[in-house]
Amino acid sequence: MASTSKITIKLNDIKHNVNFLKSLIGDSVRLSAVIKGNAYGHGTSNMVRAFELAGINHFSVYSSPEARVAFDTQSSDPTIVIMGFICENDYKWVIKNNIEFYVSNLDVLEKAVQYSKETGNKALLHLDIETGMNRTGIANKDFKNAVSIINSNLDYLEIIGITSHFAGAESIANHTRIKKQFSVYKKRVKYFENNNIVPKIKHIASSAATINYPDTRLDLVRIGILLYGYWPTRETFINYIHRRKEKSDPLNRSLRWCSSVIAIKNIDIGDFIGYGMSFQAQHKMKIIIVPVGYSDGYSRSLSNNGHVLVKGMKIIIVGSVNMNMIICDITNIENVRIGDEVVLIGNQGESEISFSSFANMNNLLNYEILARLPQNIDRNLKEL
Ligand SMILES: *Cc1c(COP(=O)(O)O)cnc(C)c1O
Repeated sequence: MASTSKITIKLNDIKHNVNFLKSLIGDSVRLSAVIKGNAYGHGTSNMVRAFELAGINHFSVYSSPEARVAFDTQSSDPTIVIMGFICENDYKWVIKNNIEFYVSNLDVLEKAVQYSKETGNKALLHLDIETGMNRTGIANKDFKNAVSIINSNLDYLEIIGITSHFAGAESIANHTRIKKQFSVYKKRVKYFENNNIVPKIKHIASSAATINYPDTRLDLVRIGILLYGYWPTRETFINYIHRRKEKSDPLNRSLRWCSSVIAIKNIDIGDFIGYGMSFQAQHKMKIIIVPVGYSDGYSRSLSNNGHVLVKGMKIIIVGSVNMNMIICDITNIENVRIGDEVVLIGNQGESEISFSSFANMNNLLNYEILARLPQNIDRNLKEL
């Protein structure tokens, strides 16, 4: 084992989620799988493969290095769109390979023209316009210049899409802001269309907006978290479920993270376990050592309260989470042996460490826990 723990992704669960989302949005809306952040911790190459097998042909990444991984892995010539940053050295590669990219300011628009001239290919663009999030996005004051640069360089540019991003569609608290953004978006798209810049596709919705604001789905939705089996927020899940007869969660979480027992010890009453004095045995105990710690993305906040599964039983972490190890209590479990599987997230027999319980214990968002799973953990796709 190259890493002390491993992550397994079950293809069937991913197929299930893709099918659920496709039936939700219908045939007239395209589905782009968002695979930024190492595909939400699931591993970019694994997930490009999994999504292709599930029938996805459109991917959204954040950066050009991520686009390279997706491009090198893909086997069905999908559309790849860079929503964020392109390294200066990557522009030519991007344009040559028909990788589409967001233009969020005039500087990137000018680079698109310049590098298109150098490569002899058209740059395929999505105009990312400011609608109220105030993060990236072409500002209103630059629209006139953008229009004139585009219309005088039609040999070098093709406007594939006009897009924007909502500032928090996962929470009803932002309702007014989201509604306002959507109406600003429609108005600004019209401005471009009135100036002969007519995009092939309009898109703005991510997972939360796809669920909470169905009229924002337009031509394409960019779905990340839902495809992996998690809801953007509990509120979004409740909002979805409350309109349905069937009350069970329609998504499958496909990620399973496990490690193994590397040592077993007996502890006398009164002994302290691990660093310092955060845990003192109140009775004779038996403990196991598991080689996973905060350097593996296993948060220190799980010290003395996180759980793992051994032999199908939920057991508690004792003492603090170390950089590379945790210690767990197996006093009441028989026959644990060195090498036995320890499940950190996922199921074992009838028991499960659910991601949301993990997230609650951790005080983290699903998004953050997933994206923090280190890249160097072995990941594999289980196709059966
Ligand atoms: C991350 C991201 C998405 C996907 O968000 P989810 O909530 O995971 O669906 C969509 N669009 C943009 C611009 C993003 O950065």
